[in-house]
Amino acid sequence: MTTSTAAYSIDERGYYGPFGGAYIPEMLYNNVEELRQNYLEITQTKSFQKEFEQLLKDYVGRPTPLYKAERLSERYQTNIYLKREDLCHTGAHKINNTIGQILVAQRLGKTRIIAETGAGQHGVATATVCALMGLECIVYMGAKDIERQSPNVARMRLLGATVHPVHSGSKTLKDATNEAIRDWINHPQNTHYIIGSVVGPHPYPDMVARFQSVISEEIQKQLLSKTCRNYPDVIIACVGGGSNAAGAFYHYIDNPNVKLICAEAAGKGVNSGESAATSILGTEGIIHGSKTLLMQTKDGQIIEPHSISAGLDYPGIGPMHAHLINSGRAKSIAITDQEALEATQQLAQLEGIIPALESAHALAILEQQQFDKNQVVVINLSGRGDKDLGTLMDNLEMLNA
Ligand SMILES: *Cc1c(COP(=O)(O)O)cnc(C)c1O
Repeated sequence: MTTSTAAYSIDERGYYGPFGGAYIPEMLYNNVEELRQNYLEITQTKSFQKEFEQLLKDYVGRPTPLYKAERLSERYQTNIYLKREDLCHTGAHKINNTIGQILVAQRLGKTRIIAETGAGQHGVATATVCALMGLECIVYMGAKDIERQSPNVARMRLLGATVHPVHSGSKTLKDATNEAIRDWINHPQNTHYIIGSVVGPHPYPDMVARFQSVISEEIQKQLLSKTCRNYPDVIIACVGGGSNAAGAFYHYIDNPNVKLICAEAAGKGVNSGESAATSILGTEGIIHGSKTLLMQTKDGQIIEPHSISAGLDYPGIGPMHAHLINSGRAKSIAITDQEALEATQQLAQLEGIIPALESAHALAILEQQQFDKNQVVVINLSGRGDKDLGTLMDNLEMLNA
């Protein structure tokens, strides 16, 4: 984990350019402030770094491979490398962050962990590290999501977590988040709130980005040994809240030779009314304690997002990405449900790898952008597709022949 002071980094007040900060109710001030005052010191101690690195290696299975996808490269006439976060324990990059945060929580003397989850992926990653450390785990989840995501609910329960259904509002992610915040206000002494992406009030976006930065740290070393240069021409990652992209971009943000591409979910089409293309449709506002781009009505009501991939189905993006995209450092391209489905099939059949539907949005960029035959393109394969089989069977006729 490194610190940097350049143009795209966070400032002392927790802002990336105009985005970020900590817009929280007074009742939450002490909880967030305790974290803000301690996270850097804790994560920079030798004992923390040693334990974090050891767990990433022995428990998560890092470093994940950087795999040259030969048949995919042939198809697009360029050099494509896949960063295999799909091979992490629990099937995605989210565990990098939950391991980091549980180690911070322990060092702050917390004994009780709470989290919110939409699709259940972050809930599973949180329940996993709580089991690992023997800490109590309560996951808030909208009642509607509990119904839609029953395998992940079962996983969390098997791991020993309590899944707390939320019946208010639209019974989805934002309502679960409100309940988690309410819980934290009521248990300020013993509880840590594990947020699952580079969202929320400062210091969460920065802390989560640092934990995920292991992804680009590894890419640097792996590319150097494979291509004699430690950076690619292009990095592509999907963006829900933005944590896997933050990790894949982190060590390249200040290198102007590296083009950064964010794949957002266009759902049924950017202008269909059923999309999650936040950086295109979003306007400045405050969501989950942070000033960023979000999909909202003129009156500031959050617009329910839609994406075939539950992990991209979020009405905001993290403040780091809002700044990277707004300033022109990163480019955002929206991918439809249909394009993601096609990219999933293509990777399965060209490389024998079934990607998560989220990650398939990043793969689908290959159809939209031209790369030349000498370029090196890294795609962050954020997760594996086993969890999406039900959705794939509902949407791909070939699976039901
Ligand atoms: C949760 C998830 C995402 C989206 O979250 P980010 O914070 O944007 O990375 C992407 N891919 C997979 C596999 C996920 O589980």
